[in-house]
Parts: sequence; structure tokens; C-alpha cells
Amino acid sequence: MPFDHAAEPLPETACDVLVIGGGPAGSTAATLLAEKGRRVVLLEKDRHPRFHIGESLLPLNLRIFERLGVREEVAALGVFKPGARFVSDEHGGHTAFSFAAGLNQAYTHSYQVPRAGFDALLFDRARRAGADARDGMRVLDVALDARAGHRVVAREDGGAPHAFRARYVIDASGRDTFLAGAMGSKARNPHNNTAAIYGHFRGVLPFADEPDGNITVHLFDEGWIWMIPLPDGVTSIGLVSNAGFFKRRQGSVDAFLHAALAAVPSVARRMEHAVPLGAATFTGNYSYASSVMHGDGWLMAGDAYAFLDPVFSSGVLLAMTSAEMGADVADAWLDDPAGAAPLARAFERKVKGAIDALSWLIYRINRPVLRDMFMAPNNTFRMRDGLVSLLAGDVHARLNRQPPVLAFKAAYYMLSLAHRCGYRLRAEGLVRVRPPVPERVTAPAAG
Ligand SMILES: Cc1cc2nc3c(=O)[nH]c(=O)nc-3n(C[C@H](O)[C@H](O)[C@H](O)COP(=O)(O)OP(=O)(O)OC[C@H]3O[C@@H](n4cnc5c(N)ncnc54)[C@H](O)[C@@H]3O)c2cc1C
Repeated sequence: MPFDHAAEPLPETACDVLVIGGGPAGSTAATLLAEKGRRVVLLEKDRHPRFHIGESLLPLNLRIFERLGVREEVAALGVFKPGARFVSDEHGGHTAFSFAAGLNQAYTHSYQVPRAGFDALLFDRARRAGADARDGMRVLDVALDARAGHRVVAREDGGAPHAFRARYVIDASGRDTFLAGAMGSKARNPHNNTAAIYGHFRGVLPFADEPDGNITVHLFDEGWIWMIPLPDGVTSIGLVSNAGFFKRRQGSVDAFLHAALAAVPSVARRMEHAVPLGAATFTGNYSYASSVMHGDGWLMAGDAYAFLDPVFSSGVLLAMTSAEMGADVADAWLDDPAGAAPLARAFERKVKGAIDALSWLIYRINRPVLRDMFMAPNNTFRMRDGLVSLLAGDVHARLNRQPPVLAFKAAYYMLSLAHRCGYRLRAEGLVRVRPPVPERVTAPAAG
């Protein structure tokens, strides 16, 4: 039910920029704009610290942490993450991709973080930068009007409504997609119809004898499972699959998750003594994008614009980089609305380019050919290093770092051809398989 803002005569707080949502995108944009001397209001509906999914970060995040001056605080909060390990029972093995082997040698590790503390840290950073950061304050209505100023109405939990008059609005409301929802511009991603069940556990065995900080991604026939080591012996575990898989669910979400984990031998081995720390959560059909990203005096950043899929842990990085670029667009617009148009177009191009770079891998993760390449990686033309760079989130790589990525993609297309002729890549090279396996291992996405 939309809030009747016209009928509510409220005193208005004026600001340059109002940011909806105090997650990584919103807090990043608010910090950078406040540091430029803008009057920023940042509104978050929940109270920090609060749980959020999305705990595994990428090396290129470190660049933004440095810019925000929070790198040491994030390091103190999380588990050191040297890379990502992919495990496949079908292939009978595992491969660890170390970020230290990537093409961008400036950022060679990352962290796995409990999001409650991480998001609270970033929100507090925005406040320290001078933003009027209020949590427990839900935005109810935005009346866009670039000339008179956008009117935003919010309500404190259990309290009174507040009105704001903002010259610029940044929507960083995450999966709530506040503006895209209001504009009807949000559409499900037709290429990726997956969902997830996840929870926290204690007593999960490390993949190797000793904990090594890697995220492990266990591939199984119909999807994949993440295992993320967090501080204090907690492991975040989630299972991602398609609609057909989840439709077979019987019983509770927890029972379904436990049965599904027990059915994957390399995961079951690690779960022998595991104890859940709470009820599991189900998130369905989570990939989408808005058909518009910005307009006169407003833009969307992070998940408020689009969400892909968590397989390569790219969500927080994409959210913070789009917020960083978005802050520059807002700042330029406040000085000169017409002059800021080219910057806004470049912002859109770069955000879409980063999403496209990762989509290529994401849409193929359940295909046998890509899985074979992950499990038997080859470094001809440095293509393994190129893959590591993508896994590190180096999606805005300079031209000299692109040829290995292109070599990896070319190898994929050649191997796809070989696959159609009945061959698969194994550690020892191309091997004839009889009968030839179908191209997809997953059921076709429904809907
Ligand atoms: C199953 C799953 C697993 C994932 N795993 C990873 C991972 O391992 N690594 C990774 O990097 N990413 C992961 N992600 C993605 C990651 O969670 C998001 O991409 C990231 O949190 C986006 O940041 P954001 O700031 O755009 O949005 P959010 O972090 O969602 O923040 C948006 C904020 O806006 C607030 N808000 C919403 N509506 C309003 C309103 N009306 N008024 C005020 N406030 C409002 C919300 O409360 C929230 O705090 C995963 C996602 C899913 C679904």
C-alpha cells in the first residue's frame, strides 16, 4: 500500500543526496559523497548489526576497503581467504585457485566475513564521514522530482514518519529493489533461474587436514554447494540449484537441506559432526535486473539494480564498485545536471560490462565442459591465470590482462565442439566418452 505522502504535511529535512539502504552499496556511496562535502542522509530499515547473506569477498574488494580506510578493520573481522577450491565427486578430485596466481598482483587475497559486523562497520564509516546515517528507518515513498527536489518519506520503526527533500536519490535497497519495484522495471533473469537454501553450522570439517581459509564450492549433478569458513569455528553452507530440484522438496527446509548435503559424498564427509546454528533460509528465483539504472537526479546501485548469482562471490564487490562509480555520477550531477550525462552513461556501461564478464562464467557453471575445465585447468596462454583474475573480481581489467581471459573462452568453445563429438577433457587430456554426454547436466530452467 503506497504511503499517501501528499496527504501527510510533514516538516522536511533538506539534503543533497538521500541514500535508501545501509548495506555495502549504500554505505559506500554515502561515505564517498559525505567526504566530498555533500549533505548526505542514509536510511536503513533494519538496525545494525543484523544478519545478511553474502559472506565471501573477492580480492578486488580490497581496493575499495583501502579507499574507505577500513582494510585493517575488515581483516580483523574476517577469515583470510587465499582463494577458491572447486570439488567435484564426478571428476573424483578438486582444484584450488589461488588468487596469488592472478594477473592483478596488487590484490592477491580477500576475506570471508560475518555480514552483521561487516555491514555495521561500513554503516558506521558513513556516519564518521559525516553522513546523517539512521538505522531502523524504512523508506516508504519516493516522489521523484528533479526540479523541486525528490520528496522521500520514511518511518522510524514503531515511530513517526519523517520527510526529506533530496536533490539526488541513490537507491541501494538491495533485493527489495525499491525504485525498480515502484517503476515496474524489474525483470527476472531468463538465463539463470536458480534458488538457494543456506544456514550456519558448527563442527564442519575443513576440506583438507587443516583449515586453509578457502571457500569450497562442491559441484554436484544439479547445482553446487558453498562452504565458507567464518570466525569462531562457524561455517556458512548453502546449496544452489534450479527450480526442478527444489520442487522435489518434501518436509521442512532444514530436512531438505540436510538430505541434499548428505547426498554429496565430499560434503557428507565434512558434515559428520556438524550442528546447525539456527533454521535454514530459502531464497527463490534470485536473479533479476532492472531495465533502467539511472534518470534525472537518481540512480540504482548494487542489488537494487541487478543480482546475478552467488557462485563466484561477486555480489558485494559489484555492489560497492557500482556505488563508488554512482557516487561520482551523483556528485557531478549536483554541480551540473546536463554536464553529468556522459558520466552517467559511462557508469551504466561499466556496471553492465562487469555483470556481463561474470555472467559468461555463471551461465555455464552447470555445463560439463566448463566443469571439466575447472577440474583440469590448463595454463596455456596463461588462461588459468585469466580465469583466476575473473574469480578475483578483476572485471574492469586493463587491455593487457584480457588476452588470457579470451584464450580461456576460446578454449571453452573448442572443447564444446569436441564435447559434441563425444570427447571430454580429463587430467590426461581429451578422452572419448561413450555415449556422448548431453550438453547440460541440469534440468532446463523453468519459467
Ligand atoms: C544465496 C546468496 C548467497 C550470496 N553469497 C554471496 C557471497 O558469498 N559473496 C558476495 O559477495 N555476495 C553474495 N551474495 C550477494 C550479496 O548478498 C549482495 O550482492 C550484496 O549484499 C549487495 O549489497 P547491496 O548493498 O546492494 O544490498 P544489501 O546488502 O541487500 O543492502 C540493502 C539494504 O537496504 C535495506 N533496505 C531495503 N529496503 C529499504 C527501505 N525501504 N528503506 C530503508 N532501507 C531499506 C536493507 O535492509 C539492506 O540492509 C549472495 C546472495 C545470495 C542471495
